[in-house]
Amino acid sequence: MSTDPSLDKSFALLRETIDAVYHGVRDLPVTPTVTVPALRALVAQRIDLRHAHPLPALMQTVIDLLREHSLHITHPRYFGLFNPSVHPSGVMADALVALFNPQVAGWSHAPAANEMERLVLRHIVKSLGLEPDVTAAHFTSGGNEANHTAVIACLAWRYPEWGTSGVRACPRPPVIYLSEESHHSFIKVARATGLGTNALRHIPVDAQFRMIPARLAEQVGHDRAAGLEPLMVVATAGTTGTGAIDPLPRIAEIAERESLWLHVDAAWGGAAALSPALRPHLRGIERADSVTIDAHKWLSVPLGAGIAICRHHEAMHRAFGVDTGYVPPTEAGAEDLYKTSLQWSRRFMGLKLLFTFAELGEAGIAQQLEHQARMASRLREMLGNAGWEVSNDTPFPLVCFTHSSLAADEGSTRQLVESVLKRGRAWVSPVRLPDSRWVVRACITSWRTNQDDLAILVDEMEFARRSVMV
Ligand SMILES: *Cc1c(COP(=O)(O)O)cnc(C)c1O
Repeated sequence: MSTDPSLDKSFALLRETIDAVYHGVRDLPVTPTVTVPALRALVAQRIDLRHAHPLPALMQTVIDLLREHSLHITHPRYFGLFNPSVHPSGVMADALVALFNPQVAGWSHAPAANEMERLVLRHIVKSLGLEPDVTAAHFTSGGNEANHTAVIACLAWRYPEWGTSGVRACPRPPVIYLSEESHHSFIKVARATGLGTNALRHIPVDAQFRMIPARLAEQVGHDRAAGLEPLMVVATAGTTGTGAIDPLPRIAEIAERESLWLHVDAAWGGAAALSPALRPHLRGIERADSVTIDAHKWLSVPLGAGIAICRHHEAMHRAFGVDTGYVPPTEAGAEDLYKTSLQWSRRFMGLKLLFTFAELGEAGIAQQLEHQARMASRLREMLGNAGWEVSNDTPFPLVCFTHSSLAADEGSTRQLVESVLKRGRAWVSPVRLPDSRWVVRACITSWRTNQDDLAILVDEMEFARRSVMV
């Protein structure tokens, strides 16, 4: 116990809040009802920065604001955009990280944190079928940074002068191939690397929204004939819209034949590597030059924790290596992360994932992932029984669906979804399929979702459908 009653009170409040939110989130509305001006005024009124506030009162204010005016992504009926429910251990991990505040950029500043991250990353790398002794891996803020890292590593690997001359080092304009359904982070990456979005080729997808390998091969041929330089192909393992898995083995063959760098964007779906039952769906990922996985999606740790993996260790050095006169040299056998990654100062992002892995064990992690996949199968059945049609086909827990009584246009689908959200019992979203139909998207993004939650979702969908029809 401290001698500071205000601090004691704050600790007690923190403990009580973790307990209350973790156990009580199911009873909160999933969606907030708030307007911009009202909330802005409320925040300014409650937190007047001209004055000092006692910590317990300030904490209570913040807790109230977060509880009342958040979209609760840790709710078991948030069927959402890959944002997970977290385990209490993830919360503890982030508190410990803030407490010790290890500076992970340099090994000598944070030996224990660096080695714990290394342990976790090697575990992931091995489960993907890659060789941990030669593969580089580090935590990133998320999938966007991991994808950015992969493109920079590829450029530095392919063009020895890229580090000094930038895109002027490319004798011919480089081209990156990715499916129509790939993640929009590559738009940002194309801009940030100086390649520009004209360097991206969006390859058409098949009826299940997977990249068509023959169309990829064809496009590579066209571009080569036109004097461009095919550089990289991005295969998505678990697309954001529909959970489609591009045919990795066939794309890997084309990549080898055409000397393209193969990047697998498995930001969400890569977690499947940790389940023996789901892992076969990622077959071919072991042939990738680089991989993106987000721990803050299907691995259910708090934001933000992405992972960048690259089989060419040297490429990371070429891309990010720098020499300073001020960071103390590292011990022999260890490595400073600021020299092999985009970030400089670096938070101990890996602890929350270490906690999850160590707390659940291999079998527990697999069970959690498989539970979510099973809940999605159950949801497909329940929707079918209630007269809805499922529009996608994936072994991963993401269900897109519609109803024959509904128009599949943007306006009607948004209206349907709005009427679900208004009632606050479940969160789903509208999504446009590549064939331009609009449908509803529900991802089992919480490991806490159970059959009762699915039944409530189906009821809410029926209720909303009837209300938009009259
Ligand atoms: C979420 C996602 C990203 C972006 O990851 P962030 O963690 O949001 O930066 C990239 N690719 C895919 C396939 C994703 O699902």
